[in-house]
Amino acid sequence: MDIIRNTNAISEWGASRRRQGSTIGFVPTMGALHQGHLDLIRQAKSDGHSVVCSIFVNPLQFNDPNDLANYPVRIEEDRRLLEKVGCDALFLPERENLFKGFEPERFDLGSLDEFWEGPIRPGHFQGVVNVVQRLFSFVRPDKAYFGEKDRQQLTIIQWVAKQRRWPESIIPCPTVRENDGLALSSRNLRLNQLERDAAPVLFQALTTIANNAFDTPVAVCLAMGRSIMEKEPLTSLEYLGIAHPETLEPLRAWPSSVGAIALIAARLGSVRLIDNLFLSNPRA
Ligand code: AMP
Repeated sequence: MDIIRNTNAISEWGASRRRQGSTIGFVPTMGALHQGHLDLIRQAKSDGHSVVCSIFVNPLQFNDPNDLANYPVRIEEDRRLLEKVGCDALFLPERENLFKGFEPERFDLGSLDEFWEGPIRPGHFQGVVNVVQRLFSFVRPDKAYFGEKDRQQLTIIQWVAKQRRWPESIIPCPTVRENDGLALSSRNLRLNQLERDAAPVLFQALTTIANNAFDTPVAVCLAMGRSIMEKEPLTSLEYLGIAHPETLEPLRAWPSSVGAIALIAARLGSVRLIDNLFLSNPRA
C-alpha cells in the first residue's frame, strides 16, 4: 500500500492509476479504524476500484474542542488493517497542506441540518461538507463510500453532491455492528467496561421501534424506545426520533408510501454515541 501525505502527490497517484485503466474508489475517514471502515474499503475493492482511504481528523467538524483533543489516533494499527484488506493507498494529509489557500464555503444544506445532530453540533455539517469537497478535489474519485451509521451526514453529502453536480457517485454502505448490536464507532474505544456493557441499549431502543413501526402510532413507538433508554441509568438520552428518509424531518405519523428512519443520540459518561435504523414500510 502506498502512503501519501501530500495533496499533489495523491492527485498524481490517481492520475497514474487512471492511465493504467483503473477507476478510483475513495473512503474518507478520521482513523482509529474498525470493521465498519474496513467494510467500506472491501465494498470499494469489490467494485473493482483502486482504493484510497484517507485519515484526517477534520478540525472543521468538531464543535467541541474536548472531543477533538480526545479523538483516538492509531495510525500504525490503521496502516496494518488497511494493508490486510488490500487498500491501495493511504492518504494522510497534513493540515497545513490540505488547507493551503482554503476559504471555507457556506453550503446550502436545505433544511437537512435543522434537525438531530444539526442544532446540537452547530457548524458540524458545514465542516464535513467543506472537507469532503476539499478531499474530493485532490483524490478525484469516481465513487466515494460513506456509512449509513452517520445517516444525516450521508443524506447531506448525497444532497450536496446532487445540487452541486459533483461528478463523484456517493455509495451508501450498511452499518456494521458488534454481536450485541452496538454500532462500531471509533468513539467506542473511550467507553469504560460498564459503559460498554450498557451501550447496546441504543440499538435495543431502535429495534423495539423497528418491531412496532407502521403498526403502532409513532408517538407510542417513541415512548417505548424512551422507556428502554430510561431503564439504563448510565445513558443520558439527547434525542430519539423518527424521520422522513429523504428530508429527515421529524414525523408524527407514518408515511404512506416510503419507509422511515429512527435516529438516536445518547451520552455514556463523556462519550457521545449516535445510531439509526431504517424502518421499512410494509405497504410501500
Ligand atoms: P469516521 O472515521 O467516523 O469519520 O467514519 C468514516 C466513514 O466510516 C463514514 O462514512 C462513516 O459513516 C463510516 N462508518 C463509521 N462507523 C461505521 C459502521 N459501524 N458501519 C459502517 N460504516 C461506518
